[in-house]
Amino acid sequence: MIRQFQLVEKVRIYIPEVDEATLNKAYVFAMRAHGDQKRESGDPYFSHPLEVASILAELHLDLETIITGLLHDTVEDTSVSLDEIEKNFGVDVRNLVDGVTKLSQIEWQSKHERQAENFRKLILAMASDMRVLLVKLADRLHNMRTLHFCASDEKRQRISQETLDIYAPLSERIGIHQIKEELEQLAFAQLHTEAYESIKARLHFLRQKGKDTVNDIKSQLHALIKENGISSVISGREKSPYSIWRKMRQRKVPFEQITDIIAFRILVDTKEACYRALGTVHSKFAMVPERFKDYISTPKPNNYQSLHTTVIGPTNHRIEIQIRTHTMQDYAENGVAAHWKYKQNNQEDKSEYRWLRGLLEILEHSSDPEEFLEHTKLEMFQDQVFCFTPAGDLISLPQGATVIDFAYAIHSDVGNHCVSAKIDGRLVPLRTVLRNGSQVEVCTSKSQMPSPTWERLVVTGKARANIRRFIRTQQREQYILLGKSILQKLFKKKSKSFSDRALIEFLPRLRLKNVDELYVRVGSGVYTAAEVYNQMFPDQERIAEKTDDEECVLAEAKSEKAPDRPVKGKTAISLHGLIPGMAIHYAGCCHPLPGDRIVGIVQTGKGVTIHTRDCSTLTQYESEPDRWLDVSWDSEADHHEIHVGRLYVLLSNQSGALAKMSTIVSHQDANIINFKITNRTETFFDIVVDIEVKDADHLTNIIGSLRAVSQIVSVERV
Ligand code: MN
Repeated sequence: MIRQFQLVEKVRIYIPEVDEATLNKAYVFAMRAHGDQKRESGDPYFSHPLEVASILAELHLDLETIITGLLHDTVEDTSVSLDEIEKNFGVDVRNLVDGVTKLSQIEWQSKHERQAENFRKLILAMASDMRVLLVKLADRLHNMRTLHFCASDEKRQRISQETLDIYAPLSERIGIHQIKEELEQLAFAQLHTEAYESIKARLHFLRQKGKDTVNDIKSQLHALIKENGISSVISGREKSPYSIWRKMRQRKVPFEQITDIIAFRILVDTKEACYRALGTVHSKFAMVPERFKDYISTPKPNNYQSLHTTVIGPTNHRIEIQIRTHTMQDYAENGVAAHWKYKQNNQEDKSEYRWLRGLLEILEHSSDPEEFLEHTKLEMFQDQVFCFTPAGDLISLPQGATVIDFAYAIHSDVGNHCVSAKIDGRLVPLRTVLRNGSQVEVCTSKSQMPSPTWERLVVTGKARANIRRFIRTQQREQYILLGKSILQKLFKKKSKSFSDRALIEFLPRLRLKNVDELYVRVGSGVYTAAEVYNQMFPDQERIAEKTDDEECVLAEAKSEKAPDRPVKGKTAISLHGLIPGMAIHYAGCCHPLPGDRIVGIVQTGKGVTIHTRDCSTLTQYESEPDRWLDVSWDSEADHHEIHVGRLYVLLSNQSGALAKMSTIVSHQDANIINFKITNRTETFFDIVVDIEVKDADHLTNIIGSLRAVSQIVSVERV
């Protein structure tokens, strides 16, 4: 536990004229308030707020923030009131402590809907004062550092998952790289201990093996840049086990080379020197196209600035190089905190947090909080692509964004009516994926409307939410028309006069408020026309559930994008976007799992087949947009169901390799149900494994763990 004078010293380094009396007062105040409370580690509770204050001092934050660090748990855990805090430390500290207390009360593991609401609270708290989040992150960091003292396994897992899902991405977003890395590291070690250990062991091995290579590359780079009259500091920075794990989950290649785990960093004095150093490196080593990124001219949304390039290095392996100034480096490590330092006395300039505004906007317009959460979570992990409007305004979108995303980013009206775009003057279709630096001019037409297939083409939450909203409204209109015509035909056949008024009388019996509701239910297949008819004319001879006429109307309507006719019975799985009772099949080609992005294809007479969105089989339906159904997994439902995922594994032909594989699968609580060797050579086995898993994420974790095993050459999902 650090001492009182040590904390003061830490702050004095960067605020020489610090108000020591107030800092000491806060120290004593918090210590008294926590009294003899204890942490799970057995340490006095006060050691926690003190460490939190110390972390904040390392980020060189202002005095109010440090004091908030000391006091952050007093209102929640002791008898101290906010008024007392205000009386002693002023209204700003009061508001900060209040903000942190409110954030701490958020329960992330609650139901999805509540989680979204919590997210909303978090963003609002951040928008009001970024320092609240900084204290919260320091709090979380210290709790993660001491998490191994926590006796409950379930709690350790929960806190770690929450850290990975929420707090690490948030630290990344506000640019505090240091904290992000440490949070990820600690959480990863808790959640996937085995993978963590084996990656660490391999890192160690590669580090020993590649020591000379790294030093060699460093001195070559240094000499090269010096020759050109630029002074630089060069370091080789090892990637973290967690970032390697993530790459292994996502990418096909296992890591083999020392150069895969080291990124070289060149620090120079000026922006101009960055570009000169870059030119020097590129003139000596071949650059890998596509990998070059200029975050100096277009910084990341968290204000990160740097040049990134990958070149074929001296040993003929790819090496990653980052070039930036010392100041940019400080920003890269400390983000918003560094920003704070440089503008100590200025109010935080919120306009720089474009992404925050983006989130707030989605939040305001999202009818479905669950959708909102899904997308903000996703977007936080994605890299950005930067494009310009014809007027030169910068629009940043997640990697993979298309013209449609861009159009919606400008305005929902532009999105709803976009027909094509001109990228750098060339006419391109809507599905075109945007590239960095493009200038995009969206072409619109009044008669254009979003189509369900657009959803497959967008990656931003904003575009998706808008498209869904539009389709929902439009679908309802179609159901009304369809329902009405189904009933009309049946009535005509039975020689009954048909009018809205005739139906209105029967609405109470069907417990419906208006005729449109009835039409929607008939149109969407909740009621059959025969059911309605039988209800309305109970004395008449009952007509069969299905009439030829109805079939005929449905068939006609299909070409207007109406869903397939429902089959009686309960839905076996929970999917959004399907009418209950519809027959569902999982496609055998792609084995979709909960969590995968999916799409339904209407198979006449068979129901709906669910495919993953990237399934290659889908190309054969491309010309028939009417058969595509917009479906998604119901995330509210607990996935008690077990699904089967299929993996291709390439195993080296060594004794124990198979055993190792099955051990790992069972450690991940999954079950191998089918297993086939498709090819066997002296050195390798090709095998197909079917594994019962909970969802896609579960399978991805298994894949990651398998990739960490040295006898396993590659693992792919089918
Ligand atoms: Mn705390």
